[in-house]
Amino acid sequence: MQDLVIVGGGPAGITAGIYAARKKLRTALVSSDFIGQVGLTGPIENWPGEASIQGAALVDKFEDHLRRQAIEIIEEDVLSITKNEHFIVKTEDGELTSRTVLLATGRTPQQLGVPGERDYIGKGVVYCTTCDAPVYQDKKVVIIGGGNNGFSSAIELTDYATEVTLLEIADKCRADELLQERAAKKGVSIHTNQTITEIVGDDYVSGVTLQDGSSLPVEGVFVEIGSLPNSSLAPTEVKRNEHGEIEIDYYNCATSLEGFYAAGDVTNIRDKQIVTATAEGAKAALSVYDYLQFSPKL
Ligand SMILES: Cc1cc2nc3c(=O)[nH]c(=O)nc-3n(C[C@H](O)[C@H](O)[C@H](O)COP(=O)(O)OP(=O)(O)OC[C@H]3O[C@@H](n4cnc5c(N)ncnc54)[C@H](O)[C@@H]3O)c2cc1C
Repeated sequence: MQDLVIVGGGPAGITAGIYAARKKLRTALVSSDFIGQVGLTGPIENWPGEASIQGAALVDKFEDHLRRQAIEIIEEDVLSITKNEHFIVKTEDGELTSRTVLLATGRTPQQLGVPGERDYIGKGVVYCTTCDAPVYQDKKVVIIGGGNNGFSSAIELTDYATEVTLLEIADKCRADELLQERAAKKGVSIHTNQTITEIVGDDYVSGVTLQDGSSLPVEGVFVEIGSLPNSSLAPTEVKRNEHGEIEIDYYNCATSLEGFYAAGDVTNIRDKQIVTATAEGAKAALSVYDYLQFSPKL
């Protein structure tokens, strides 16, 4: 019987594992991989202590730190989580019983699914503008997606890039009027009825091809067509918001199901960043510790 099973080995789950070990909780951490969203990232410039670090290098450091802890680490997919008297976490090869569970399964960015996209992730294809905008100083960029995120990204990018183009697949952008006006005032070139068919380049992106066969030379392609929380593992009693994110108590990361906690990008926290995910993971592990201290019946 575990005190805590953490599902997910991104920044939130790993930090929770470190804190749980320090509290001597009997803990297992199960994750499909230790890459998470950080591993999809090129240079990271907002992680304190590292002025600039590649996503792949940062995940290696995180994993190394985790493996020094006195917790069980299982590299497998979790298939289901149920609760009777205790929680049962089914993995590909086995089953864990635990007093509490922390879900830290993050999000999956929606991809365009066009040729070249996967090849250039971290080399010009970007899924997080807040994270990467400064890297595109004095470069030409295109944003794909005419919703609020797309327009907010475009506005942010006008502070760095020399040319900012926004493409929307439909005949009308869905973003708030105010954002659309602001983007137009900032010089963003907005085009509707435009579909990207390919992302091209050599070592890095050099342009995109459009449905009509024309091409647009750019060094950055910002994909802003949304991302989905990996929340399907949570038992049905766990409340989600309209976006499918797990609703947590911001004070302690508890959910609507007793003993079930969630942290990081899978939840309804406002800011989805590495520092916030790590902070939430720490909060969640310390809350689990308190909960177990005051729940002798478990
Ligand atoms: C391209 C990109 C660039 C970014 N750049 C930055 C940046 O520069 N700075 C910044 O602060 N933030 C950046 N972000 C955001 C940041 O990566 C996330 O906020 C952060 O990774 C969230 O951490 P997390 O632990 O909640 O989830 P994730 O990083 O998504 O980790 C989730 C983990 O759960 C595991 N998992 C999922 N489902 C299962 C399952 N069924 N069974 C077992 N394990 C499972 C996954 O394998 C993964 O290891 C970026 C995001 C993207 C997509």
